Amino acid sequence: MKFNDMKYERVELESFSRDWQKLIKEFKTAKSASVQFDIHMKLTGLSKRFSTMHSLAYIHHTLNTEDSTWSAEQDYYDENNPHFEKLQIDYYKELVSSEYRNDLEEKVSPLVFEKIELSLKGFDERMIPHMQEEGRLTTEYAKLLASAEFEFDGKKLNLPLLTFYLEHPDRETRRTAFKKRTEFFMNNSKKLDDIYDKLVKVRTNMAYEIGMENYLPLGYIRMERNDYDKDMVANFRNQVKKYLVPLASKLHDKKRRFLGLERLSFIDEPVYFKEGNPAPIGTPEQIFQNGTTMYSELSPETKEFFQYMLDGNLFDVLSKKGKAGGGYCDFLPLYKSPFVYANFNGTSGDIDVLTHECGHALESYLTRNMEIYEQTMIGMETAEIHSMSMEFFTGPWMHLFFGDRTPQYLYMHLLSTLIFIPYGCMVDEFQHIIYENPSLTPDERKNIWRELEGQYKPYLNYEDDPFFGKGGTWQRQTHIFERPFYYIDYCLAQTCALQYKVKMEQDYKSAWKSYLDLSTRGGTLKFTELIKNAGLESPFEDGCLKHLIKSVEDLIDVYEAKLPAEYKQDLLK
Ligand code: ZN
Repeated sequence: MKFNDMKYERVELESFSRDWQKLIKEFKTAKSASVQFDIHMKLTGLSKRFSTMHSLAYIHHTLNTEDSTWSAEQDYYDENNPHFEKLQIDYYKELVSSEYRNDLEEKVSPLVFEKIELSLKGFDERMIPHMQEEGRLTTEYAKLLASAEFEFDGKKLNLPLLTFYLEHPDRETRRTAFKKRTEFFMNNSKKLDDIYDKLVKVRTNMAYEIGMENYLPLGYIRMERNDYDKDMVANFRNQVKKYLVPLASKLHDKKRRFLGLERLSFIDEPVYFKEGNPAPIGTPEQIFQNGTTMYSELSPETKEFFQYMLDGNLFDVLSKKGKAGGGYCDFLPLYKSPFVYANFNGTSGDIDVLTHECGHALESYLTRNMEIYEQTMIGMETAEIHSMSMEFFTGPWMHLFFGDRTPQYLYMHLLSTLIFIPYGCMVDEFQHIIYENPSLTPDERKNIWRELEGQYKPYLNYEDDPFFGKGGTWQRQTHIFERPFYYIDYCLAQTCALQYKVKMEQDYKSAWKSYLDLSTRGGTLKFTELIKNAGLESPFEDGCLKHLIKSVEDLIDVYEAKLPAEYKQDLLK
């Protein structure tokens, strides 16, 4: 089925609720496990319909934010989501207390029951008004960022389009673009502080409603973490401070030599090479044609998957007026179809759509026929292994997209993944401090960020920037406002993806087999079990990063040897 033929119909809360409650009633009076299981599957059918319609509304809304019909649909779900969530919880309460629980656990899987028990701990009806307020505040933040408009180069640009100039090879152009960005954040500083302050308080109140001492444990439950806690996360961050921060500082200095500068500042962060970062060649049509070649050659599974995506028109990647920024991969359970959304802008980020987002999409394609819907649900730390590893598995085909600048692209990609991890951990530690101390003032929050920057990015130089140089950088990191504690997931996943990278250098075929197996398992195991099964070292274990860094440093040498001679000379300077 093609995307445009997928019929949308609003899920009306009232009729949905009636059907749902009726099934719960039948469930309660059912006289056997098998009857209860049949009802479970009927409820799953309703959930799938809700999720599909909700996603369709979201996709259509983001494709054209100026279309008031779709934005009304989006508002409808924003407002009613907590009520739908409550219905799910009402059913789960019955499910876990069923007299046939043992038999049901066998059919549905004990892990699903464990996850359900966890979700029950993180929800209470009294939280609903707070959740609605949270939704309104995050929307206000997104709208504020989307309202940014920059006069530049004779054009009117939004924040995502300004990114092109933030990466510009000409340093002065870059500096002007950064100044424009600073102006916007300075002008909205008070608003940003207020929105965030309210978000911290509303989330803290949510936690108080269910008797928790702060938002931290609730945040972990809402991220569906069932096999690691804050101490394990802290241990991972400590390893990053010990092993990765020094490496990232070294890599930063390599960049300085490539750029031929005395000292780098924050305006040089997005740039790797004097003549600019490698950009993809060819029209979007050619890029997709090359994508077809790449996935046909990679494996039979990826060949079938990519053709399915193309046949269903399941990509929308061209930037157009009214289309919301960013990129994502969604899944429509009723049609068993992934959907990939992006805004091509001529940077190497366009190729991430074919690698990163397709890693997510392939996983949902591989698990689309799983009988138990709950088993297809995975944590973000797992999901990002699928996508970030795919960025590495597609490495051998990058010449199709970057031509003679492929060595630079591969080198830049490897370096950027390593430099990212300390930043990601900083975002995570920041949020732990913020939610454990909800009464901090906006200025105190900014001071904490600056302190953390000293630990995680000691080389950072903000020139005399009055906003970003004063601890404001986190305010442009949307996850901090929109999804607390979702960020360490990228770091955990990147640690696993880098392990795959090391493995594929030794034996590509067996690394791919392990990856495919991991993706096919979906959420049938916990994160730590999934990676153990895949033969990966747990990021939480002491020594994981120490071992990894050693292999990665060898890899950097290999990639450096492939760079054109002029770069090798830069490194000798
Ligand atoms: Zn992703």
